[in-house]
Amino acid sequence: MRAFYHPDQSLHDPLQYMRFGQIVAPKDIPERTQKLLGALKTRGVTPDQPAPHGSAAARAVHTADYLRFLETCWDRWAHLPERGPEVWPNTFPYWSGRPEERARPACPAEGLIGQAGWYLGDLSVPMGPKSWLSIVRSCDTAVSGADAVAAGERAVYALCRPSGHHARADRASGFCYINNTAAAAQRLTSRFGKIAVLDVDAHHGDGTQQIFYTRDDVLTISIHADPVNYYPFYTGYAAERGHGAGRGFNLNLPLAHGAAGDAMTKAVDDASAAIRTFGADALVVALGYDAHALDPIGVLKLEAHDFATIGAQVRALDLPTLVVQEGGYAVDVIGDCLAAFLDGWNPA
Ligand SMILES: [Zn+2]
Repeated sequence: MRAFYHPDQSLHDPLQYMRFGQIVAPKDIPERTQKLLGALKTRGVTPDQPAPHGSAAARAVHTADYLRFLETCWDRWAHLPERGPEVWPNTFPYWSGRPEERARPACPAEGLIGQAGWYLGDLSVPMGPKSWLSIVRSCDTAVSGADAVAAGERAVYALCRPSGHHARADRASGFCYINNTAAAAQRLTSRFGKIAVLDVDAHHGDGTQQIFYTRDDVLTISIHADPVNYYPFYTGYAAERGHGAGRGFNLNLPLAHGAAGDAMTKAVDDASAAIRTFGADALVVALGYDAHALDPIGVLKLEAHDFATIGAQVRALDLPTLVVQEGGYAVDVIGDCLAAFLDGWNPA
């Protein structure tokens, strides 16, 4: 499987993360990429460096005011007379968060603190001096992957970091800033008619859902731990089926906390049936490993070999496929999970 990755993606090095009322060590650490690159090496895959693609792919799925904030906030922050080590909000506007709610208007406040609360949706998305560069390169990786699939590659892996699937059109959250999966899926719509997005990260792909929620040309499916007591809490329920023209083109398959590989296998089978019924022309797999039993913020009980089953299942769909890296924070096992996925896709 061809792969893409840019070394600048490891420069994003967050310092703070709020969990259970405490500032703790971040989970999205640069070491994650080293583990995933190591797994690729064991399978003989050398990633290509993505070309710089400019901002068109991000602008196709995000608002201009949001992207402008992300691009400029560090420099503005650095000029504050008194400040912490990275851009971190201390206010959160009232907002329903319903998936059918499209992007909000641009933030009415001109000041940085007000805008930080508007555009950084929680305390897992600090912006440091190199964050924007990593965010742009991560999107470049996804776009290069999409373009390779559009040019005829049967399967491509985009080693994206930071992740993207929690990023809404106008808001960062959950370690995510630009929605790489959505940008890639949108990019593929110009080459293929109907795109299916299958998200198997342990968290609901709420940003991807919101971006395509009123569309009937992109089927979004997310398999994740039940959000009733798990991030992102407010979306990811089975009743969310899409809105307007998109009604019926979003599918959420929540898993009970503690569920293991057999439950994931069943859910991927159900998702596969929906993808076939939809008649997808191409597939984007949002691949996270935080369903692994050892994940430090996980509640599911998959083992590394379960990702081989997922790989075999998505290959059986027999579609041009882009695999986009999302979460997975147990640094000692995420390489095994990726290697297993590749083995399942391409059995020896
Ligand atoms: Zn996740």
